[in-house]
Amino acid sequence: MTSIQQNIEQITSQIEAAQQKCGRSRETVQLLAVSKTKPNEAILEAAQAGQRAFGENYVQEGANKVAHFSEHHPELDLEWHFIGPIQSNKSRHVAENFAWVHTIDRSKIAQRLNDQRPAGSEPIQVLMQVNTSGEQSKSGLNEDEIFELAELISSLPNLTLRGLMSIPANVTDYASQLSAFTQLAELKEKLAQRYPEQKIDTLSMGMSGDMEAAIEAGTTMVRIGTAIFGARDYSNKA
Ligand SMILES: *Cc1c(COP(=O)(O)O)cnc(C)c1O
Repeated sequence: MTSIQQNIEQITSQIEAAQQKCGRSRETVQLLAVSKTKPNEAILEAAQAGQRAFGENYVQEGANKVAHFSEHHPELDLEWHFIGPIQSNKSRHVAENFAWVHTIDRSKIAQRLNDQRPAGSEPIQVLMQVNTSGEQSKSGLNEDEIFELAELISSLPNLTLRGLMSIPANVTDYASQLSAFTQLAELKEKLAQRYPEQKIDTLSMGMSGDMEAAIEAGTTMVRIGTAIFGARDYSNKA
């Protein structure tokens, strides 16, 4: 077994231990392997350990990887999630390549992704990015904006609204983490009640440092990069 495969095993058992501790059943928390800046070989190793969902932050890099794996390893049937900021001039590549988008934070991007989704493709599964810390500087939406944007997304045929995503403030104490995540979980429930015809079942929250609190609060998808693939090298990124 390679070290990437060992890392995946270790994180999977950490997720299961955290689930057991708060009485959540197994298989309700999905691991999203964040592979930004990592080469195809590393992704292949993870895929061979059974990992299927991968998260990418950079449009061109992500599109190249999607093309590589659909050409050379279609049997792996990887599922690609876009988790980076989206500039409107790059939205077409996102619409053409990704099954999921976690970072919708304005109507213009939602509309463009809908319009640019190739005919005959499945709808894009989308999450709205929420600002749980209430900080002005952080990207993401507040509660009123979420309901406004949900109204638009639910009317777009090529997008399916699945839930919310957050990158919370960098707090290390468990109680604060839990309270921010719990707010998000409550917001997701409100949305699910308002839009019963959508399939609002997803909370993308929890990273290496706050995974346990996210699991207690009800996350369905944790996003882990470094603990799987090792530290990133950004020297070739502008
Ligand atoms: C990079 C990234 C992650 C993974 O971070 P690690 O610290 O490497 O685990 C998770 N979520 C988002 C949105 C990211 O950009």
